[in-house]
Formats: sequence, C-alpha cells, structure tokens
Amino acid sequence: MKRAVALTALLSLAVLSAPAASATASPAGRKADLGRQTLPANDGWAAEGTGTTGGAAAPASNTYTVSTRAQLAAALAAPAPKIIYVKGTIDTDRTCADYATGGYTLEAYLAAYDPAVWGRDTEPSGPLEDARAASAARQTANIKLKVGSDTTIVGLGKDARIRGVNLHIDKADNVIVRNVDFEDTADCFPQWDPTDGDEGNWNSLYDNISVTGSTHVWVDHNTFTDGDNPDSNQPLYFGRPYQVHDGQLDITNGSNHVTASWNRFADHDKTMLIGSTNNPATDTGKLKVTVHHNHFDNTLQRLPRVRFGQVHVYNNYYEIPDASTFVYALGVGVQSQIFAENNFFRLSRAVAPANLLYNWGGTSLTARGNVLRVGGPVTPLDLVAAYNAAHDPDLGTDAGWTPTLHTAIEPAPAVRESVSRHAGSGKIG
Ligand code: CA
Ligand code: CA
Repeated sequence: MKRAVALTALLSLAVLSAPAASATASPAGRKADLGRQTLPANDGWAAEGTGTTGGAAAPASNTYTVSTRAQLAAALAAPAPKIIYVKGTIDTDRTCADYATGGYTLEAYLAAYDPAVWGRDTEPSGPLEDARAASAARQTANIKLKVGSDTTIVGLGKDARIRGVNLHIDKADNVIVRNVDFEDTADCFPQWDPTDGDEGNWNSLYDNISVTGSTHVWVDHNTFTDGDNPDSNQPLYFGRPYQVHDGQLDITNGSNHVTASWNRFADHDKTMLIGSTNNPATDTGKLKVTVHHNHFDNTLQRLPRVRFGQVHVYNNYYEIPDASTFVYALGVGVQSQIFAENNFFRLSRAVAPANLLYNWGGTSLTARGNVLRVGGPVTPLDLVAAYNAAHDPDLGTDAGWTPTLHTAIEPAPAVRESVSRHAGSGKIG
C-alpha cells in the first residue's frame, strides 16, 4: 500500500508540472501557428548553441501549403527560410509497377536468386539484379525528397499525412518536422543478401525520415506507422521475412544535435538507428540526440540503437506486447553513451526485462529512474542489473556524462499517461 500511495503522489506532481504541448495554444485558446514555433530553450540536444528555429523566420512569400508529392517536392526546392504546411494526405502518385524496368519481376528475381540455384556465398549479380537496381533507382528518384537548411514542415490540423515518401534531411542545419503522420515508406524492390547474417536477409532502402550529416533537427509530435502494410504481414521468401521497410527515423552520417520528442512509433521492426557504422571517422564526438516523451508501441528493435553518440533517452513509454516478435529496446553500440532516465516499460508477461538492452559492442550506459509494469503494480526497473544477470559480458553502469539540455523530467510512473495522451500527430495542430 505504501508504494501505491507514493505513486499517487508522484502522479499528482506530474500533472502539476505537465510539460506536454504547453506551447501550442495561445492564451485566447486559438490554435497557434505551428509554422512559427521554434524549439523551446534547453529542449534537448537540438537546443545546443544557436538552437533550432527551422523556417520560423520565413517571409510570407516563403510559406507553402502542399497536398501532393509534386507540391511538396517543389516547396522543398524553393529558397529558405521557408515553412511548408502539409494539408491532408500526400501520396507518392505512382505504384511499384510504374517503377519496374529492365524485365524485373519479383517472381523472376526469386527464381534467379533462390539459394538452391544461386547458393549462399555471394550477393546477387547479373541481369535481374541490375534490373532490380534500375527499378529501385526510379523509385528513389520519385520518393526520396531532400530537405535543406532553415526549413519547417508542419501538418495542418489533425489529419496531415505523408505516405510512401522518404524525407531526407541531408547536410542541413536547422530543420523542424512536426504534426505529420508518416506512413508506409515501402521499398518496392528489396534486395536479397544471402551473406547478411547466418540465414541471409532482405534489405530495404527507405526510412520515413533520414537525417544524414545534419545539425539542429527537431522531430516532434509525429506518428510513424506502416499503415495497412505492416512488417508483420510480409511473407517469407527463402525462409526470411520479406522486409520492405527500413527505419522510421534514422540519424546517421555525422549528424548532431537532434531532439526527437512526443512522437509515436508503432507496429514496426527497425525503428530508430543512431549511427550506421562502427567506423569512427565520421561520427566520433557527434550523434548527440535527445529522445523524450516518445511512444514506442509494438516496435521491435532500435528504440533507439546507438553508436558513438551521447544520447539522452528519457520519459519514453515503451509498450511491448509480443515476446515472439520483440527483439530489444536500447541497442548499446560501439562507443555509445546512452543515458536512460525515467522511462516506462509496459511489458507482456513473456517479455524478459533482461532483453530490453542489447549489446552491439558498447561498454556501459547510465540507467536511472526507469519503471516496469507487467500486469501488476509499477515497480522500479534496473535495466543494467536485469541485463547483466542474464548476459555476459556485463555492461557498466556509467555512460560517462550527465545531460544538461532538457526540460522538465517527469516521474516515470506518470509517463504512461502523459505520453499515451499527448504523443503523436494530430495533437497540436
Ligand atoms: Ca536507414
Ligand atoms: Ca552477466
């Protein structure tokens, strides 16, 4: 009973200090113009130095309201600073059949590279692999849209959606993306690689949002799903899942100073990759990312997976209902420095808390204030102790830094409710 009383007290505290979406309504109760909003001071790594303002300072002539892929592409190519308002659903306006060229069909590809025919020692090559690559290049040209510096992309109202597009924030500084439902960025032409892992893998090219070589990026109050095309519905070919999706929000190639807040990531396999290579040349001292108040809802791995970066993961709500598909939550990669604080893990009974971490070649992380709920009461969770009790080598308990750029940190027991209620698109528009 003592615990229940203490938790109730913590919950009321959290309500009093509720940080959710506080900057979105004007005092008169009218909807604020999201396009003119900037990242609050101290709100994670994207607040470092000059902070993140996106296109908030754009003159009226540099504001665009877009409802088609072509309009979005044209607005993205226009001069900065700029604000792009997404109205309704943007689709890719082509089908997989429109991109296929050079004789590519999935049936022919499967016939050519069946391990019984091609073996397992070398990657596919030859006319059908060339046709696959040529077809993929046509899809890339249509769906991969580059986002430059000093740009804000915000959804209007509650139903702004971008489907099948890969937003590529590349070599840019100062970008904001908010209030958009990103859906099903499926690769029409996954590549078979028999040398990837013990049994081979199907690999796909596109994330919903890719952040490469970019700084000061704020990704806030968006939803990421695979729509009616979830990974769980894909067939097996050559005994392996036909994976048509890559990441939902991948941050790589020397990117730095990123805040991902109040997003909902749902029903997806590889969710958030921070750092894509163990080669230290580009990423050492970078990949500093804050991940807070996100809802990881039936996502299977990379929540996030980290290499190199000092990554503050706080006040996120992890909902892990299915032990048969779940892989891990936090990936502790090479030279990563994860600081995991006051997160709420809601697990089904069959999910072992020991498997919330996965060691991809890291040495330690700091974990404090996290809580666990498995049907019964909310209890404290020592992520590292749970991991170490079941795995070797052990992980250390000190990531070697203490975050200073953050806004109010809620007591972990309150996170389930605040994040369930406020995370995702359609909540602030
Ligand atoms: Ca990726
Ligand atoms: Ca151990």
